[in-house]
Amino acid sequence: MDVLVIGGGPAGSGTALRLSRLGHRVALIDRDHFPRDKPCSEYMSPETVRQLDALGVLDAIDQAGGAPLDGTRVVGPCGSALVGRFANAGGTPFRATGIGLKRTILDATLLHAARDAGAQVYEGMTARELSRDGAGAICGMRGTDAHGEPFAISARVVVGADGIGSMVARRAGLHRRGRLRRVAFVAHVAGVEGLSSTTELHVGRNGYVGINALGGGVANVAVVVPAEIAAAARGDATGFFWKQLENFPAVRDRVDATLALSAARGLRASHEANTGGPSLRSGRGNLVRPVLVTGPFDAMSRRSTIDGALLVGDAADFFDPFTGEGICSALRGAALAADALDEALQCSGPITAHRLRGYRAARRRAFLGKWIVERMIGYGMLAPALFDRAIERLDRRGMADTLIGVTGHFVSPWRVINPGYLARMVW
Ligand SMILES: Cc1cc2nc3c(=O)[nH]c(=O)nc-3n(C[C@H](O)[C@H](O)[C@H](O)COP(=O)(O)OP(=O)(O)OC[C@H]3O[C@@H](n4cnc5c(N)ncnc54)[C@H](O)[C@@H]3O)c2cc1C
Repeated sequence: MDVLVIGGGPAGSGTALRLSRLGHRVALIDRDHFPRDKPCSEYMSPETVRQLDALGVLDAIDQAGGAPLDGTRVVGPCGSALVGRFANAGGTPFRATGIGLKRTILDATLLHAARDAGAQVYEGMTARELSRDGAGAICGMRGTDAHGEPFAISARVVVGADGIGSMVARRAGLHRRGRLRRVAFVAHVAGVEGLSSTTELHVGRNGYVGINALGGGVANVAVVVPAEIAAAARGDATGFFWKQLENFPAVRDRVDATLALSAARGLRASHEANTGGPSLRSGRGNLVRPVLVTGPFDAMSRRSTIDGALLVGDAADFFDPFTGEGICSALRGAALAADALDEALQCSGPITAHRLRGYRAARRRAFLGKWIVERMIGYGMLAPALFDRAIERLDRRGMADTLIGVTGHFVSPWRVINPGYLARMVW
């Protein structure tokens, strides 16, 4: 094999697809069978749509029944709010709307496209160890299949696309822990009141809630809290999810059927008395998929390359879901990885970290500004009053669209990371 890709999410499938189309022999393994679910808010900006188009899967995605999303509404801890629209953000958006789409559909579409392009895809295979050659360079992996039977694959280069907590990053000694340790509880809920084409982010004093339409009357509702608070969820993620929502007054009554109904108790009583039914829902909310839990997502890598391997997507670095766009970063990273590997594979001899240095530089050029904006927002949330004031200023001064374009990857981050913008945001 020329390339072994470990992980079949957007980063792995995107890399495998591109390299296969360039004529390289690619094997991709994933421990899951697709379609598989993934805890994610399932929101994609117009720039992610551009990446999907570049991979040739946009028609399939457009026909898959997701929801068009036109921007983001952010509500601060003290009630300030901003709305940013993609269409008004400037830059060069691919189109005016992004997409809310279940990861079961998105990831399976990408994996199938990689297979159609010629990649050998092995599902239900878990990579457990990296293999090394005599010089210590990575040259493959050893793992187990769905029945626990051992297997091994060798390749000239290994791509670690195995997500947060990447085995490849850990075994290669590239893993590093970050500071903001957060855990997410993600549900699919039907019948959320007031659901629109604008994504919602509600920031509280201890975490935040994201709400996205996914099409078909279903919303993705994600609660993200610091790891120390999430510890209380042990054994009852669903109960914890609903309890946390009670801390978000602008969300809870719209999402939780029980609370909505008890708020409307008088109305319901008279409704039922007058009409004799229909009987209203009982139980908490309308969960249409169990609550999925992930985190703490404090993982990142020291470097994205080592002799014989590179990292891509969340395995290389994780973007906090608040600024979203991990899927976009994974797909852009896949394009950069494929370019670098295509060049490296043309030459004979080992594929060393030195040979892959162009990939590190390209990632830095592509992501540095976004990393800075993400850290600014992430740490800003730790100071609720300041965060609220910034939201109020951004909205009042017409600066919100730009920020949404930056977090959506299609407006240069340096439009936000400059003294003028930052000063107007706070003072
Ligand atoms: C709560 C939350 C909300 C988010 N919301 C958004 C959002 O709205 N929009 C957005 O763009 N991004 C969002 N993200 C980020 C996004 O989910 C990730 O950035 C994206 O999935 C990264 O893709 P990836 O391919 O790198 O990793 P993944 O999608 O995680 O794929 C990794 C794959 O590797 C496989 N794997 C792992 N270990 C092994 C192993 N040892 N052997 C074999 N296979 C293995 C896994 O089964 C998995 O299929 C969110 C993330 C979280 C946690």
